[in-house]
Amino acid sequence: MTTHIEPSTEALPAAYGPTSVNGWSERGPLRAVVRVALALDRDQLLAALLNRLSELGGLDLEAMSAEMIRDQVEVWLSEASGAERDDQADLVWKGFTERPADERALILRAADAIDRTYPGLATPVVVEGEGAGRTVRCTAPGCGWRAGGVPVELLMNDGLTHFEDTHRSTR
Ligand SMILES: [Zn+2]
Repeated sequence: MTTHIEPSTEALPAAYGPTSVNGWSERGPLRAVVRVALALDRDQLLAALLNRLSELGGLDLEAMSAEMIRDQVEVWLSEASGAERDDQADLVWKGFTERPADERALILRAADAIDRTYPGLATPVVVEGEGAGRTVRCTAPGCGWRAGGVPVELLMNDGLTHFEDTHRSTR
């Protein structure tokens, strides 16, 4: 099994949320505008978009810019609980082949929109092996960095540090 390590520190700027604040909200005077950052996998993002599609009816996904897709995803995420994010993500592909053709087509179109909007954070550092034998290895051409022998969480940290120190500035 090979798993790409994803840096956890890169946050996209908000697409949805207050872009100008004049001191008031629907409920009354504002006290603060807070921002949160969520680390999400593909199915969580896809579930958010699919939920928005079912709330809004027909959206022309192919005509929407990446920022418009992000805006819709973030609208749903701003209202969903952590449990809803996980539960909905678990349902995205459940029974996929038994669903009606138009539903399957919509899911695939939404998945394309997610892939186009969020191209991913994969680094050249991969985790290989299973259990106690897991190692991390850098697959960047000519690099050859690898590490093993300690818990994988520490290895992944080492891998990200290696990536940041060695490759980030030259990418
Ligand atoms: Zn490397």
